[in-house]
Amino acid sequence: MILHLKTNTPKNILKDYCTKTNAFINKKDSFIQIVNSSSYKVANDELNPFVIKTFVFDSDIQLASLKYSAHKQINIDQLTIGRNSSQFPIIMGPCSVETETQLKEVANFLIHNKLHCIRAGAYKPRTSPYSFQGLETKGLELLKSTAKTNNLITFSEAKDASQIKELIDSVDVVQVGTKAMYDQGILKALGKSDCTVLLKRGFGSTIQEFVQAAEFILCEGNENVILCERGIRTFENKTRFTLDLCGVAWLKHNTNLPIIIDPSHALGSSYGIADLSKAAIAMGVDGLLIETHPNPKQAQSDAEQQLNFDQAKELLEQVQPYLKIQKRILY
Ligand code: PEP
Ligand code: MN
Repeated sequence: MILHLKTNTPKNILKDYCTKTNAFINKKDSFIQIVNSSSYKVANDELNPFVIKTFVFDSDIQLASLKYSAHKQINIDQLTIGRNSSQFPIIMGPCSVETETQLKEVANFLIHNKLHCIRAGAYKPRTSPYSFQGLETKGLELLKSTAKTNNLITFSEAKDASQIKELIDSVDVVQVGTKAMYDQGILKALGKSDCTVLLKRGFGSTIQEFVQAAEFILCEGNENVILCERGIRTFENKTRFTLDLCGVAWLKHNTNLPIIIDPSHALGSSYGIADLSKAAIAMGVDGLLIETHPNPKQAQSDAEQQLNFDQAKELLEQVQPYLKIQKRILY
């Protein structure tokens, strides 16, 4: 349940109620927001005189629900991302930061194609301890300096909660990867900040679990969450994962958060990324995340799926008619 309470609600009544019901308290401009389990349907007698509005739900998808608020827009620098924004970010860049030259080449490609968002991982959560684990702090420094010179918005992922402060200080958007979606240390630390979070769906998680992970961030007071569908594991093994567009339709219909699609990790190969991107734009999502590398064959992670610049350029041309139908402009 979500309650909006008068700002003059006595502290002792508020505290008593929140302790009893494990509720989160967030002070907003004109009210106090209380969030507890969806099993609660009414406030108690002490609190009732101070209730402005009560929102009840049939599951713990609450703050992210369209029944609570209309579609959210998130501002990052000059970009507004969300359902009613005319801007459509295509976030491009390598899986991992590897060298300064690599990032400079990517930045040049983005600028020449009027794109403003660069992605690159410095902390890489790999499935094998023997694979490249990322350049860590050095990687973040390279990303930060390349982005600063070229005025780009940066996206990079966290592997554990100890990196959150460093990431917030270094990048514009902190990405929570598919394996980190359940990491409550990461989610809570991001919830206590006001940085924009790109939350990827766990590849083995239901939509309910995915949105509840977003609720972990939202209930701490951080409203800046972008959902990202990146493919789930199914019985199919011809593709790396299965892009769950039904899930995206459900998210669009039921949640108020911006939604982006990452076709690169879903397919796991470069050949169909443009097709999936067209499908994503046609179904009305709010942005795309696409892995792009100056020389994918040499990439230290996810080599198979990264687009080279020719492929990326072709994709940008191919999606134009779909963006036009959606009245969106590439950003
Ligand atoms: C990535 O974006 O490079 C990444 C590791 O993504 P995911 O967490 O979706 O696998
Ligand atoms: Mn990757």
